[in-house]
Amino acid sequence: MNGAGHVRYTYRLRVSSTGLSWLGAEWARCRWVWNECVAVSRKLNGLNRPDGQKAACGPAEPDEMLTQARQSMAWLREGASVPQQQTIRDVAKSRAKALKDIGAGLPMRQRAGMPRTKRKREALPTLNYTRRGFRLKDGRLHLAGGLVLTVVWSRDLPSAPTSVRAYRDSLGHWYASFVVEAATEPLPATGAVIGIDWGVRETATTTSDEHDLPHAEHGRTAASKLARYHRMMARRRTPKYTPDSAGYKRAGRAAAKVSKKIVRQRQDTARKWAKSIVRDFDHLAVEDFRPRFLARSTMARKAADAAIAAAKTALIEMARKHGRAVHLVHPAHTTMDCAQCGARAKHRIPLSERTYTCTACGTVSPRDRNSARVMLVRAGLNPAGADLVSPGVC
Ligand SMILES: [Zn+2]
Repeated sequence: MNGAGHVRYTYRLRVSSTGLSWLGAEWARCRWVWNECVAVSRKLNGLNRPDGQKAACGPAEPDEMLTQARQSMAWLREGASVPQQQTIRDVAKSRAKALKDIGAGLPMRQRAGMPRTKRKREALPTLNYTRRGFRLKDGRLHLAGGLVLTVVWSRDLPSAPTSVRAYRDSLGHWYASFVVEAATEPLPATGAVIGIDWGVRETATTTSDEHDLPHAEHGRTAASKLARYHRMMARRRTPKYTPDSAGYKRAGRAAAKVSKKIVRQRQDTARKWAKSIVRDFDHLAVEDFRPRFLARSTMARKAADAAIAAAKTALIEMARKHGRAVHLVHPAHTTMDCAQCGARAKHRIPLSERTYTCTACGTVSPRDRNSARVMLVRAGLNPAGADLVSPGVC
């Protein structure tokens, strides 16, 4: 995880009404390509080869499919080929991620899902362009196919971008998100290491008392507001295939506004916390937890998972920027292992049990603190460098 890597710089776009219909048409074509790829991928999942291996899905076949589709369909050909090809890459990437997670034996809740069909009503438009699909000229963004967009340059791009994503959010605003090579700003070495465990009550419990991240309470009023708008939307929902009512749309916009505010607050908290971690430690051993936001989970669980996701992203970005090493630790059994002697508990410890008691060596410590120390051990970092409590003391 060393080195600079890439970062995103995002700007608002000003789009004319002609631009809006242009982007809408491009998105319709990319959405069609996405859904075709998903259909092919589903078919492949069902097919097992005679030797028992899963059938492969390289990009060659979908590329071929796209070429043929563009030849036979004038509508598809009217759109630029770059975002359509990029759509194929994105489906393949998302599929590969899902297969990798299954292969790694991640628990269901943390696995990336297989790419799913994008529905016109629900999916938000997003178009991806590689370097040959866009250019910046006189401060304006030129997209393949001829659309020119006005960018609101709220801050300077540090270098020439390698790709751009044009997308619309749930409020109807359009953005351009550029990928640029990140410049590193190394910080002085501290000689200290830290282990970080994610959780519901505390977003992050660490091996250092001063660096825990409590679950933010500020989202609570916003969350109840959001729930109210969601109930309003549910009441005003019209039957399938009929247009949305004005009241439904109003409630939808209000809900989008509130959730946007929650996201911003969460990011702000996450960045401040990440900054303090990166300032004080050279090596970070972090649980590689990947929340999935399943529909069945509760609102509180979803909020906790979203806070974890924001903190983890901020931490990785901040560490990259300042040249700190991040060690991602596989989450399996991290709550069951003893950080002191390495013994594994025979049974899963219920979430209500807040202390970890090792049956092998007798160490007693707060459950999450033990998990944070397990991260250090698993990452091969010397636990002596962290705040360790001697056996049986706490
Ligand atoms: Zn032990």
